[in-house]
Amino acid sequence: MSNSYAVINPATEQVVTQVELLDVEQTDSAIARSRAAFATWRTVSPGDRARLLRRFAEAVDGDRENLAQLEVTNSGHTIGNARWEAGNVRDVIAYYSGSPERLIGQQIPVADGIDVTFHEPLGVVGAIVPWNFPMPIASWGFAPALAAGNTVVLKPAELTPLTALRLAELALEAGIPEDVFQVLPGAGKVVGQRFVEHPDVAKIVFTGSTEVGRQIMAGCAARIKPVTLELGGKSANIVFADSDLEAAAASAPYAVFDNAGQDCCARSRILVERSAYDRFMELFETAVKAVVVTAPGEENAEMGPLISAAQHARVAAYVPNDDQVAFRGTAPDGPGYWFPPTVLAPTDLTDRVLHEEIFGPVVAVVPFDDEADAVRIANDSDFGLSGSIWTNDVGRALRVSRGVEAGNLSVNSHSSVRYWTPFGGFKSSGLGRELGPDAPFAFTETKNVFISTKS
Ligand code: NAD
Repeated sequence: MSNSYAVINPATEQVVTQVELLDVEQTDSAIARSRAAFATWRTVSPGDRARLLRRFAEAVDGDRENLAQLEVTNSGHTIGNARWEAGNVRDVIAYYSGSPERLIGQQIPVADGIDVTFHEPLGVVGAIVPWNFPMPIASWGFAPALAAGNTVVLKPAELTPLTALRLAELALEAGIPEDVFQVLPGAGKVVGQRFVEHPDVAKIVFTGSTEVGRQIMAGCAARIKPVTLELGGKSANIVFADSDLEAAAASAPYAVFDNAGQDCCARSRILVERSAYDRFMELFETAVKAVVVTAPGEENAEMGPLISAAQHARVAAYVPNDDQVAFRGTAPDGPGYWFPPTVLAPTDLTDRVLHEEIFGPVVAVVPFDDEADAVRIANDSDFGLSGSIWTNDVGRALRVSRGVEAGNLSVNSHSSVRYWTPFGGFKSSGLGRELGPDAPFAFTETKNVFISTKS
């Protein structure tokens, strides 16, 4: 039995459309078609697979504005962000279209023969995607997987299926054979769980919460199924007194309030050297109050609404009153799940606002005493995804970069993800890496073959 799900525009609370949610039988039948398609997709010559992926990237490029508008309507992303996201999907597919001819094995010296390695595709890859960046995160999984010769079944988040469904249409229009890339909207506990349990799904690539990631890893462990996990974060933005404080304060709002804080890399803890704390807060207040929070389709929008009423309630629970609030930005009234940029100044380092992923536009600022104190506070977290370091001392920049336990750091910037560099988390932020030159290899098994030359 299938049912349907009402997709809501989070900026207006209006129903956009109904999307059919697949049941277990429909999921199984899609996996069977994917498995059948794998038999031929893996044999498509590397040059032809590359050409098809290039055409797919071109199709995405041609549909960029439509994809961006869909994301504004479905997810409340600002139009500027949504255009970047559609462009990122194009770039990710184009980058990995260079992989099929470069899945190069090794030739290893041995006696009495030759020894070579092959990077064999795994089969059907199950990608499970969250709602916060529906387009890019989908492509970070499916593009390298397809390039390595796998077929893909992809489950978007219930809240945000529209761009993924459009990407599946674009793949077909570009000539990617039927059933090689399928998008299956459905509930996590139905379609997602079936991917984990189904014997014909060879690998899971999951992005989402640490809680669900843990369940998925346990399910995969039961079947010795490989898994890549991109999970939550509580990243630190560390500001030293010797840095360009104006630049650090002006950029800090965008490092945490981008996508209304619904960003796994959000720098949601700001650690400021005590001697610079007051000056930083003064500059930061001006910057936070200047963030343009408005209808996400407006060209000047810098922040839109939260994704849902449930997410709004979750975020609001972290700010029950004004006790810890240092200052706030603005947000529109009326319909929509709006929450203003909010800056907290907790005095207790064990406060949950410094440890739990709020996933909304709420940031906590605390002072630190010296370099060692900064690294200690930054690492006092179960998470380790991302972070920033502001200093004009290059030695300190390197020492702190090496000391912070996180997968993606930036110095004197808040670099967003680059598709050609590896991305992933330490500790409870994940397992494995996506993007970068090695991503396709994560969708292969290495096979070693010895060929005797003895006569
Ligand atoms: P979520 O864990 O609730 O859901 C993610 C996906 O998993 C959804 O598609 C959901 O339907 C599915 N799912 C839920 N239960 C499942 C189950 N039992 N079996 C299989 N699939 C299941 O996460 P969310 O609320 O959609 O996303 C927000 C979270 O994602 C945040 O914690 C955020 O930090 C994290 N995230 C991490 C990264 C990263 O790269 N590290 C990127 C983006 C988001």
